Amino acid sequence: MRKALSFVVSAFIFIALTIITQIGGIVYLLAKAVTATFPFFKTKPKLWTACVFLAIYLSATFLIVPKLAPVFGRKPLPISRDGNLIPLNRLTVLLNRHYVSSRLSKEIHTVANRFSKKHPDLSVTYLEANFPFWDGFPLLPHLSHNDGNKLDLAFIYKDINSGKLLSGESPAWLGYGIYEEPQKGEFHQARACAKKGFFQYDLLGRFTFSAERKMEMDQDKTENLIRELLNSKAIKKIFIEPHLKSRLGLGQEKKVRFHGCHAVRHDDHIHLQL
Ligand SMILES: [Zn+2]
Repeated sequence: MRKALSFVVSAFIFIALTIITQIGGIVYLLAKAVTATFPFFKTKPKLWTACVFLAIYLSATFLIVPKLAPVFGRKPLPISRDGNLIPLNRLTVLLNRHYVSSRLSKEIHTVANRFSKKHPDLSVTYLEANFPFWDGFPLLPHLSHNDGNKLDLAFIYKDINSGKLLSGESPAWLGYGIYEEPQKGEFHQARACAKKGFFQYDLLGRFTFSAERKMEMDQDKTENLIRELLNSKAIKKIFIEPHLKSRLGLGQEKKVRFHGCHAVRHDDHIHLQL
């Protein structure tokens, strides 16, 4: 019975780590194998498994995976918070969720360079990208982020009170779930999707803790960023919520599309794909 329970717990940890980090499940099995092999680890096996896991996982994440990913056609996005293309949250990097195809890497660096030339104080801030290996392996909960050619970016925000532009910031910790809600007279896509029974469309916002808003999307700079993305021939689709497409004056832009009610709200980030 105890062995069966231990197997179930190990299987759960393996699956969870694989879903969240792609490589974590395999690293966990490796750590268990190492601690089972050497008598030195037998005193406190769980503690040692955790320590060995961390040692292998961190080495793999920062030293091995970035070198191996190009074999699978993927490249890591910059991990530093200094520069014109930066992660919103370093957790994205720690979880290996910051890889894109070589083509997308080239395109998004070009966009970031052009954007930062016009706006030297602002960075292009990325959220979730793709895992480092294997086409078809989804980066849950983003089902379509499975081939290296998809990327989410944060809007450009400003301080609500002072109007000061904020670089590399978002009202949400991971960049998702705090929305630029439709204003009076704007089409409310989330309500339309809810009426059709797509309960998941608006789900994240209900679980996101929202203290008093201190920042809001800067329309002008966010429009500028999307227009830089539109200038890239390789970028074929950009998803934002329909009311933001109108608000930002992008009504005529065919590449800027509605993603469908089967997805989730896109008035908290920009999704782009090749
Ligand atoms: Zn996306």
